[in-house]
Amino acid sequence: MFDCHARKIDYLRISITDRCNLNCQYCTPHPFLSRGFYKEILSYEEILRLVKLGVGLGISKVRITGGEPLVRRGVYDFLEKIVHIKGLNDVSLTTNGVLLKANIHKIKSAGIKRINISLDTLSRKKYKKITGSDSFDRVCEGIESARQYGFDPIRINAVILKGINDNELADFAKLSFSHPFQIRFIEYMPMGATTSKKDWYIPMAEMKKKINGAGKLAKLASDPNDGPVKRYKFENAKGEIGFISPVSDHFCEKCNRIRLTAQGNLRPCLLSDYEIGIKKALRAKASDRQLTDIMIKAVRSKPAGHGISKDSLCTIFDSMAAIGG
Ligand code: SAM
Repeated sequence: MFDCHARKIDYLRISITDRCNLNCQYCTPHPFLSRGFYKEILSYEEILRLVKLGVGLGISKVRITGGEPLVRRGVYDFLEKIVHIKGLNDVSLTTNGVLLKANIHKIKSAGIKRINISLDTLSRKKYKKITGSDSFDRVCEGIESARQYGFDPIRINAVILKGINDNELADFAKLSFSHPFQIRFIEYMPMGATTSKKDWYIPMAEMKKKINGAGKLAKLASDPNDGPVKRYKFENAKGEIGFISPVSDHFCEKCNRIRLTAQGNLRPCLLSDYEIGIKKALRAKASDRQLTDIMIKAVRSKPAGHGISKDSLCTIFDSMAAIGG
């Protein structure tokens, strides 16, 4: 499936809930829909129907995200069903890791092979400040249990915020010497309720400077499955580090994604609030052809690029928790 800018769209990111068990300062969600209004969010059956139709259009890769996907009841059965959809060759999960240790066996037996775990600090105290929760140890145990269960790669995502955790960049990077992790430093995007915090933004180039001195970094050749990351490795390190720079060096021309929000909207571009609803049609017993047409319309309306750059940090109303990062 190609969009109007000749980009092949084969990657669907699905937020299965807007609820989260953390309250990260930079991701503060709007009031959760799925708490009192659970009918507002798509059912698993509805999501699975859309994914199957998406596969018919060329979707081959899916990521399950949220909110926090592991807080939604029934998620492990859902993961198993989605993994078994014919035509999908990559189903992965993004989680904050809080519930990982207790459920890692269920994730493994559902057939998930790749997990991204979000961890923005190596300090217990700062973790509480950023997330509002005392769960630092639980996340670390979750990462360790993922390693023990043979998940490979284990990706650790850290959103870097100026004045909050940018002084930990070198320590994070050094973790890759002893651990086979893929550590990803992500530029903060001003979105949702945090849009006034533009001073948190720190560009990739500045992050790199702060890592200099931790060791000799070599750039790794990019792999077609890398997505938007720029990958590096220290000499003799077990793991690697990478930068995701949607603001300072965007990757719109290579974007292969479309998003399905928990509320049942297709979102052509993460950094544009334009969405096309599909829930109403689903619940009005639309035919497969009609739903497919809505999906094609969403893909066709993908903009050539987003409007955020280091010179114009324009803001997005929806929070990442609502969209699914
Ligand atoms: N709860 C899961 C988690 O924490 O990984 C999945 C959802 S979370 C919205 C997905 C990712 O988006 C996380 O890595 C989070 O750090 C990132 N994120 C949230 N708000 C962001 C922002 N304003 N800028 C950059 N990344 C953000």
